[in-house]
Amino acid sequence: MTHAQDVLERYRAALIPVFGVPLTVLSHGDGCYVVDVDGKRYLDLLGGIAVNTLGHGHPALLEAIAKQASQLMHISNFFTSEPQVELAEKLLEICRAPAGSGVFLCNSGTEAVEAAIKLTRRTGRTRLIAAKNAFHGRTTGALALTWKEAYRAPFEPLMPGVSHVAYNDPDALRAEVAAAGDDLAAVILEPLQGEAGVIAADPAYLRLARDLTAQAGALLVLDEIQTGMGRTGHWLAHHATDVVPDAVTLAKGLAGGVPVGALVTYGPDVTGLLSAGQHGSTFGGNPLASAAGVATIRTIESDGLLAHAGEIGDHLRSRVDGLGHPRVAGTRGRGLLIAVQLTEPVAVSLTALLREAGFLVNAVAPDALRLAPPLILTRVEADSFLAVLPDLLDAAVPA
Ligand code: PLP
Repeated sequence: MTHAQDVLERYRAALIPVFGVPLTVLSHGDGCYVVDVDGKRYLDLLGGIAVNTLGHGHPALLEAIAKQASQLMHISNFFTSEPQVELAEKLLEICRAPAGSGVFLCNSGTEAVEAAIKLTRRTGRTRLIAAKNAFHGRTTGALALTWKEAYRAPFEPLMPGVSHVAYNDPDALRAEVAAAGDDLAAVILEPLQGEAGVIAADPAYLRLARDLTAQAGALLVLDEIQTGMGRTGHWLAHHATDVVPDAVTLAKGLAGGVPVGALVTYGPDVTGLLSAGQHGSTFGGNPLASAAGVATIRTIESDGLLAHAGEIGDHLRSRVDGLGHPRVAGTRGRGLLIAVQLTEPVAVSLTALLREAGFLVNAVAPDALRLAPPLILTRVEADSFLAVLPDLLDAAVPA
């Protein structure tokens, strides 16, 4: 029995199987590589699903965490710390939030969405519009906004008042906003749907969502949990448009792998909706996580990783598109959030073959691969993936 098999057997005996059985057992990482407990090395092109912004073991992140851990790791929210305040300031800056905006810090994406839901309730209205195929998280409020039946059905009834409209369909959005009338609290959208298969919103659709919510006196909430923090080559994916939302949710890559989520509210009116005592979190905004967030943002800035993500993403996409492989229908995405659309349902098999060859990606759909690597991925590393792809595309078998 290998070391990994042994640990997986213990996993089966000890953990609630909501994730099924993991693919293998990882031991450590360095840069864009991870190593399993049996010593096999993989190029991590998934980055913990868009989390490991700076890869593994980045010196700037390690230094910030070690320094902060030696000073203070946790205090209650009866107190604050400089890292907490600095992280909030940095987030307001990168979100281009106007004066009077604010940040609520929490520990995960779904918690950021819960905070957003509570914010929308404070409008005095209850109807929420989300998109079909949306993923907003697994806690029961966020789950009501999530589309997938298999995630929702076992837990119904969920929070009432949510409707889902076809993504990128202006008429469907117009009709639903009209139907919600004066009770519309918010429209919540991913500017690029990650879990749905890396599908970008048409800029005109986001603009329409902005205009319709403004006319209806409702909020526009953009869920940038997967797309934010530089992943698409912009700090936030919607920065590729001129849309200014009322609130944004962030998490995943925010602190390079340390759990942090955030709700950012835009302007004094929206920020004023939540007042003392109306929300909270024991761990939210703790000094350790905050210091990791600050170090991540500073490193993205100092190392020019927004431009780099854009360049490497374009390189990867143009090279995959240029393969002319009969099993590749094309690529989608922005920056380093990329889907490779296949012409057949071979994604699961291809993912396994890539793993055997030392590359981690995921099958975001039966016929689509997702890449969400660290923003520090080099061209040489990207090329090593491109070099093995054609043969493995040939070898993959349909599910
Ligand atoms: N929103 C979006 C767009 C996501 O992609 C995710 C996670 O994949 C979430 C919310 C939930 O985040 P978390 O898993 O940290 O709760």
